Amino acid sequence: DPSTEAYRRRHEITVVGGNVPAPITSFETGGFPPEILKEIQRAGFPSPTPIQAQSWPIAMQSQDVVAIAKTGSGKTLGYLLPGFMHIKRLQNNLRSGPTVLVLAPTRELATQILEEAMKFGRSSRISSTCLYGGAPKGPQLRDLDRGVDVVVATPGRLNDILEMRRISLKQVSYLVLDEADRMLDMGFEPQIRKIVKAIPPDRQTLMYTATWPKEVRRIAEDLLVNPVQVTIGSVDE
Ligand code: ADP
Ligand code: MG
Repeated sequence: DPSTEAYRRRHEITVVGGNVPAPITSFETGGFPPEILKEIQRAGFPSPTPIQAQSWPIAMQSQDVVAIAKTGSGKTLGYLLPGFMHIKRLQNNLRSGPTVLVLAPTRELATQILEEAMKFGRSSRISSTCLYGGAPKGPQLRDLDRGVDVVVATPGRLNDILEMRRISLKQVSYLVLDEADRMLDMGFEPQIRKIVKAIPPDRQTLMYTATWPKEVRRIAEDLLVNPVQVTIGSVDE
């Protein structure tokens, strides 16, 4: 389709992989339910960012995604909104464990992601919580015990709680590694691998990163299955 090609050229979008759908260039044509559209309107966003436009339709057809785009390009909603659609499809009302798990490198980032998840998930009645180190475990465990759809966590704290057997990841079927490059720089690879072992293998896995060095490529090869790779602009390796 020439308009797809033009959009990709204009926004410096490169895609690698089979069966890549056209970008979603406006919110209204994205197939989002009204309660999600309402939150987007409330936020006042004029149109999807390029990484959202191209990674949404891939994620929404349940394919694994590697998304490489610089900071500030809207990656959070890039994975959160398809994650919400995934939750709605599954209707895991029992909430015997989270359906969506987002791993992020720091407390600060995890908190920002949680805020975005609460804001955009509110009308859809999607519940979210956050697990990070440097804070008491008690309140985090209590929030978990209430039953949540989305958990945003730093790998160290989640691994601790996993070892305490206070969380089950058996219901997780949508796993996001956000800021994968920073998580590896910070030495979280062993914890990430332990966490992934606790998640059933028939999951969808998405990796969002600002850079694409060989350590990140290697973990992507291990954890993702036939991902479509979307890059915005040029990549630092
Ligand atoms: P990244 O993870 O790529 O660094 P963020 O997801 O943190 O970027 O988004 C950066 C900012 O842009 C946030 O304040 C977010 O709310 C805002 N944002 C997200 N999507 C859009 C959009 N489609 N249009 C305008 N602003 C957006
Ligand atoms: Mg981000």
